[in-house]
Amino acid sequence: MENKCPKCNGGTIVKSGIINQKQRFLCKDCNYYFTVKKIGKQIDDYYVTKALQLYLEGLSFREIERIIGVSHVTVSSWIKKYNITRPPHSEFHPVYKILKQNELIEYIAKEDNIKNSGLIITQFADKYMLIKWERFKK
Ligand SMILES: [Zn+2]
Repeated sequence: MENKCPKCNGGTIVKSGIINQKQRFLCKDCNYYFTVKKIGKQIDDYYVTKALQLYLEGLSFREIERIIGVSHVTVSSWIKKYNITRPPHSEFHPVYKILKQNELIEYIAKEDNIKNSGLIITQFADKYMLIKWERFKK
């Protein structure tokens, strides 16, 4: 088994039941119980990805800070870390909205709101974020 104990880094791991729909393991070296999914790390990766997406869509560090609640300094460090350079967005600036599911449906139901536009809808906590730009505008 590839798994290692997160506490002692030992490799003598056995399955030990399912807790909250996740496989639980027991380290035989130090008797530490753990589950494989590391939720905290996943959330971090999720926000990094979202921040990079927003940056590529033309949003400023401060706008990204306001949307995802991570400081603009951190956002800036992620942009540097992943060496992101965005193409020039001279002709448009994206508009973004944070909507509940029913608001999202109402918004999209009106064709004028989405016609001739590029749209990205992405889940954001318990709401949805819609980023829109007039892709075909000259
Ligand atoms: Zn251990």
